[in-house]
Amino acid sequence: MSDFAKERTLVMVKPDGVQRSLIGEIIKRYESIGLKLVATKMVVPTPEHIEAHYTLDPEWRRITGEKTIAAYKKRGKEAPSDDPLEITAVILKNLMTYMSSGPVVAMVWQGAHAVEIVRKITGGTEPLTSDVGSIRGDYVLDSYQMSDVDGRAVRNLVHASGSVEEADMEIKHWFDTNELVDYRLINEAMLYDVNLDGIKE
Ligand code: ADP
Ligand code: MG
Repeated sequence: MSDFAKERTLVMVKPDGVQRSLIGEIIKRYESIGLKLVATKMVVPTPEHIEAHYTLDPEWRRITGEKTIAAYKKRGKEAPSDDPLEITAVILKNLMTYMSSGPVVAMVWQGAHAVEIVRKITGGTEPLTSDVGSIRGDYVLDSYQMSDVDGRAVRNLVHASGSVEEADMEIKHWFDTNELVDYRLINEAMLYDVNLDGIKE
């Protein structure tokens, strides 16, 4: 198998995805594109596990704050603060409440460009502006405006790693090495075999 086929990413169906009965629909999207599920489990995360998850990347606080400010600007609105770290401090506190409110389904998906493909299928962070056809664009209607008024995290059904480095750290954070299953999937031949010489009898 080519090295391409070995890229892995962490996905989590968040508590709202589980409660909205969308686990199957969400899994189907990643499965249908040709990715291989190599680990999965249902857990009720502790707030501390969630805080550690989001701060694995030391840059996450700055990037998320800046992304939020840019999203407000794009819509001609004022962000609650112009300090990215101040914005993220509130987001993180709300995320710890949101993500530990019930069971989540953690998964590891493997395949070519797994991180980028999963982000594309998942859609942008704010459901109001996520692309139509993406999970966040199709199945939920939340916005930063709504979540700010209520003082909560934006509910967007799924978590997906943002980069290969983030994926490596997050997979280790949620799974022991022995929970990751190495196996061959018949579909992979159709996606990665160079000569397709195993079809004709
Ligand atoms: P993503 O999940 O798309 O990678 P981030 O890593 O930037 O997004 O943020 C993590 C999660 O924090 C988001 O999925 C969302 O639930 C929540 N969140 C991010 N930005 C905001 C915001 N400005 N207001 C409310 N919640 C937010
Ligand atoms: Mg992220």
